[in-house]
Amino acid sequence: MNKVRRLCLVLGDQLSFDLASLQGLNTERDAVLLVEVMEEASHVPHHPQKITLVFSAMRHFAKALQQRGVQVRYVTLDDPQNTGSVPSELRRWQSLMQPDELHLNECGDWRLEQSLKDSGLSIQWHADTRFLCSRTEFACWAEGKKQLRMEFFYREMRRKSGLLINGDGTPVGGSWNFDAENRKALPKRVIAPLPARFSADSITQEVLALVGKHFAHHYGSLDSFDYPVTHADAQALWEYFLDYGLAAFGDYQDAMASDEPFLFHARISAALNIGLLDMRQLCSDVEAAYWSGSIALNAAEGFIRQLIGWREYVRGIYWLKMPDYANSNFFGNSRPLPGFYWTGETKMNCMRQAIGQSLEHAYAHHIQRLMVTGNFALLAGIAPSQICNWYLAIYMDAYDWVELPNTLAMVMHADGGYLGSKPYCASGQYIKRMSDYCRNCEYKVSESTTVDACPFNSLYWHFLMRHSDLLYGNQRMGMVYKNLQRMPDSKQQALWQRGEALLAKLDAGESL
Ligand code: FAD
Ligand code: SF4
Repeated sequence: MNKVRRLCLVLGDQLSFDLASLQGLNTERDAVLLVEVMEEASHVPHHPQKITLVFSAMRHFAKALQQRGVQVRYVTLDDPQNTGSVPSELRRWQSLMQPDELHLNECGDWRLEQSLKDSGLSIQWHADTRFLCSRTEFACWAEGKKQLRMEFFYREMRRKSGLLINGDGTPVGGSWNFDAENRKALPKRVIAPLPARFSADSITQEVLALVGKHFAHHYGSLDSFDYPVTHADAQALWEYFLDYGLAAFGDYQDAMASDEPFLFHARISAALNIGLLDMRQLCSDVEAAYWSGSIALNAAEGFIRQLIGWREYVRGIYWLKMPDYANSNFFGNSRPLPGFYWTGETKMNCMRQAIGQSLEHAYAHHIQRLMVTGNFALLAGIAPSQICNWYLAIYMDAYDWVELPNTLAMVMHADGGYLGSKPYCASGQYIKRMSDYCRNCEYKVSESTTVDACPFNSLYWHFLMRHSDLLYGNQRMGMVYKNLQRMPDSKQQALWQRGEALLAKLDAGESL
């Protein structure tokens, strides 16, 4: 085997030609290595569609690099020489190719980056320039702050990027945030666009067969895979959203509807997180759509905030706080994850819808993740590590840097309020307001303490009562605790008992 000057390892979530580690490649003397490894595909039971996306996109990316004249070494999962982990493969290829230098972009997972750092290999690390805010820049911004707030970070990112900023540095429209306009339920007359679907080419078909063979025991359907696996198809998905989804994105961002898995959401996160789309380009396309007059400011600002606000913010917190962050458990929760999270077999229609579509498409939109499956886990006191692993496994876009802070902190409030000022807890009334789920549910959302009362109602009050020592002093919870205090003792007791009965059912391994 030819000796090379530089060997660049590209991980499955780094499929971008613009990676810092790939700049200045010499096609004669340098090579790129991509490896499909069992450890990454199975450290949690990843949804089979997610494994398909990553392996197929890696194979397409390798082909595209070769078409640009780059020397590529590619190790498939079933290659008999495959040693099964990223560090062991890198070691094997180092001894085969004897490169002068090993190059690698920062990882998206603390566990993997640490194992590479511990491997004894001499690696030249590159910052992940796909993000607007580097790890160091975020650490500087966070320094000395006891609690962080996304809104202030987001304003910094708006100023830095110049997105929707007037010449004098003020925000376009006179306000940084138009979220108050983005909380509408879906009226009956509004129809969401049909989802864009992409058929499997021969490479994807081979991967589907491989995944079917090795990962059939993981939860989730493989048959419905229709996601883009190339840069060109990801771009087509994005343009479809620009044409048919973006204008209504702001208004119905928080809406939920039966048998409507995608509504006006872009469905781009899985492609974006592995490098098939570029965040800066997405933001500038959205800004251009606003200036062209085709979308309103609340849609443009709302979308840009998700990307340069929330997405960058959670990544910053992840790298600032790991590895201890993963063990945070503010409420001391220990309840195991109910089995119905893996099957969708529950009488709660909202949970059945959110989990069902997650198994079917490896996708749920933000409010389903936050206010349905997440809210239930928070109210039921599920152990944070178990619910985090579920989110990491089930969603096609889930990588530790983005899944962990969203689940552990935003949903479970397990960091005690470092990321967000209060828990996103809600009763069934919120779900009723934002969806049509309750109309077709066996439980009654208008009831709280009867045997067929909506479980979210009593669990909500049970959560507030059992954690009043930790939450009572939180200013943003003042109103709900006042409401609790106004309730007659008998009502409080009935809510507590109904909550206890539901939790006892979960502890007995029963579904709700
Ligand atoms: P849209 O609703 O169309 O939003 C546009 C884009 O904004 C998304 O593609 C995403 O890149 C970005 N975005 C929006 N909110 C967030 C956020 N809170 N954090 C980071 N990016 C955001 N997103 C992931 O990419 N991977 C995850 O593993 C993940 N886990 C989550 C777990 C929980 C418990 C919660 C509440 C949210 C999680 N999110 C995660 C954020 C968000 O739910 C998804 O990014 C979004 O649903 C993806 O669908 P979309 O592309 O249609 O997004
Ligand atoms: Fe969900 Fe309760 Fe509504 Fe049923 S009644 S769909 S459990 S919120």
